[in-house]
Parts: sequence; structure tokens; C-alpha cells
Amino acid sequence: MNDKMTIACLDLEGVLIPEIWIGLANKTGIDELRLTTRDIADYDELMQKRLQVLDDNGLKLTDFQEVVASMDPLHGAQDFLKWLQKQCEVIILSDTFREFAMPLIAKLGNPTMFCHSLQVDASGRIQNYILRQQDQKRKAVIALKSLNFRVLSMGDSYNDLSMLEEAHAGIFFKPTKKIAEEYPQFPVTQNYDELRERLQADHGFAN
Ligand SMILES: [Mg+2]
Repeated sequence: MNDKMTIACLDLEGVLIPEIWIGLANKTGIDELRLTTRDIADYDELMQKRLQVLDDNGLKLTDFQEVVASMDPLHGAQDFLKWLQKQCEVIILSDTFREFAMPLIAKLGNPTMFCHSLQVDASGRIQNYILRQQDQKRKAVIALKSLNFRVLSMGDSYNDLSMLEEAHAGIFFKPTKKIAEEYPQFPVTQNYDELRERLQADHGFAN
């Protein structure tokens, strides 16, 4: 069907694991931390807001790490990922931060992840976030295409649009109704079975 090797780029939060910031909001009871890329499309605006809320409430990196350590991947995520890794190469492209995503990445079997990092002072206060590069999801797809891969991207939210657009094919996984209506060019899947069936039907993946 296709003579190029395929690589799948998967978003992390909302696709394989729950939203980490919402977990923190649940633990702390701070509703302002519930905002995600689904609510504020501009990532820098969202992060500045989050860091301000953290400072206002004296929250530190250890608070995140406790939350993340108590979280699990979404139901079925490990099996889906194992299946996908048998079909093709897989990279997680996430706008999360390495410092607090690692416990969950370990629960997923330590797939390769490209993401961002945090600047933390000696007391554990998060001073700033460091974007490895702007628009990293799109740039990763461009780079992978230059390495002669056929790239498939899967994500749920606004920060995934650039990698969905840039890839040879983009697929929504559990998107909001709003974003699915705004970007009707991307097929919508609501669970791992539907995503697996879509990959089998459109991209020649095996059972
Ligand atoms: Mg997401």
C-alpha cells in the first residue's frame, strides 16, 4: 500500500493519560488549574496563567510529582500502545514537562517522548518553563518526513493541530465537539477500538 516506513506521533494527555493539571486541580481544589489547551488555545498564555496560580498558592514540583505518581494511564492505553508499537515506530509528542510526566511514562513502558522541561529552584519552586522549541509538534513531523517516514499524527486538542496538519494523515482522538466541528478534515475516533479500526481501514495496519 505504501513503500515508506510509517511512524506514529501520539499526543500524551487526553490520549494516553488523563490531564495532569486537572489531577492537580482535583487534589488542591484550585479550580483555575482546570484550564487546559482545550480552553485556552495559546499555550504561552495558558502556562503563564498556571505558573501565576502556582505561585499564588505556594505549590511546588513535589506537589505535582505526588499527583502524577497516584495517576494511571487511561483504561486500555497500555494495550493500545503495545499494539501500535508492533505496527510501526511510535513517538510521543507532548507539551507536558519531563519533570512530572516521567512516572506515567514509566507506566506506559517508557516510549520515546519529545516534550518540554521545567526550571526549578533549590526549594522546589517552579520558576519557569522551558519550551524546547516553539511549535515543536509540527517541527518534529517535518523532521520525521525529511527522514523519509510516512507520518501519522493523533491528538485531542488545539496544541495538536499543527502536527495533525503537517502529517501525511491526522486523526482526532476524543476531541471536544467544538474542535471536531472546527476542523472537519480530521476523522474523529472516540476510543482505542475506533482508533485501531481507523488505522486498519485507512492505513493498512494489521490486527
Ligand atoms: Mg492532549
